[in-house]
Amino acid sequence: MKVTEHFQNANGNTLFTFEILPPLKGENMRTLFSHINPLMEFKPPFIDVTYHREEYVYKKRENGLLEKITTRKRPGTVGICAAIQNHYKVDTVPHLICGGFSKEETENALIDLHFLGIDNVLVLRGDCVKSEQRFVPEPGGHNYASELIGQVVDMNKGCYLDDEQVTNSCTDFCIGVAGYPEKHFEAPNLRSDLRWLKKKVDLGAEYIVTQMFFDNQKYFDFVNRCREEGINVPIIPGLKPLTTKTQLTLLPSLFHIEIPCDLADAVEACADNKAAAQVGVEWAIQQSKELMEFGVPCLHYYSMGKSESVRKVAEALF
Ligand code: FAD
Repeated sequence: MKVTEHFQNANGNTLFTFEILPPLKGENMRTLFSHINPLMEFKPPFIDVTYHREEYVYKKRENGLLEKITTRKRPGTVGICAAIQNHYKVDTVPHLICGGFSKEETENALIDLHFLGIDNVLVLRGDCVKSEQRFVPEPGGHNYASELIGQVVDMNKGCYLDDEQVTNSCTDFCIGVAGYPEKHFEAPNLRSDLRWLKKKVDLGAEYIVTQMFFDNQKYFDFVNRCREEGINVPIIPGLKPLTTKTQLTLLPSLFHIEIPCDLADAVEACADNKAAAQVGVEWAIQQSKELMEFGVPCLHYYSMGKSESVRKVAEALF
């Protein structure tokens, strides 16, 4: 079922959903299920699965030639989505990225997803890999999420890359996209970022999931600005319970977000990570309660490979 249908069927109740990362290469599905199992009693209608682009390093061999070595650490998004849908009978939302994919490879990936019974995709440009200073598209691939949306929408109309005519065999993906209450780090200003966000919605995105934020006012302001720009689709808040003291500096540097003084002070005062995680859980519960009162259709939690804190938050709310 589509994410938008889940919103419609919720009858005004706030849904609980979360995002998982594929396990590290070499681990198995048991590891993943052990993260998901503790969250299933809160009845997520869908689970997002991130996509991690392949990265290569070049090593010089003894004969002087360069050897290309893959260092991708979290493969398996498509298989994991299918496994979750089979095992839990819950919809999945694979993340679909521009980086590392030609248009042909994207088309094949979408055909795989369609055959596996996956009805949703979160369409993204994708993060840079470590060796890039700025995003470099794959030759024959897409530069921006909006271009990738165009391809998904074409396929939803039965229009494939090598077909001159529209075929009867259409996909029917519900398309979500990312939004940034604190602005995407490359955008010159929020207004510019919102105009590109509107383009994604005008092209066919049916809902937005936000980057994590720790100050609800930023989300409320973002929603207001979106509505002023004519962006009228649901905007799902993305929340991350802070779990370690290190995350005070790690999360801002990775995700270009701010941590409010009150939260940062409380975490800094903690003797250890156990205490810090408790502060993180309490903060996320307060944020969630306020967002529920605001009437958000869904609260979406970033588990970042650990479910314990998300579970504690969900226990207090759902
Ligand atoms: P875009 O919408 O393409 O925007 C990128 C930048 O370009 C923005 O600054 C925008 O303002 C600007 N822009 C957009 N369109 C144009 C245009 N036509 N011309 C000029 N400028 C333009 N990354 C992963 O690698 N894997 C994941 O699974 C993943 N999941 C994510 C989930 C969520 C909810 C979020 C919020 C982010 C996720 N990311 C993921 C990170 C995301 O890929 C990065 O933030 C990336 O840098 C931007 O992706 P985007 O889809 O927002 O890009």
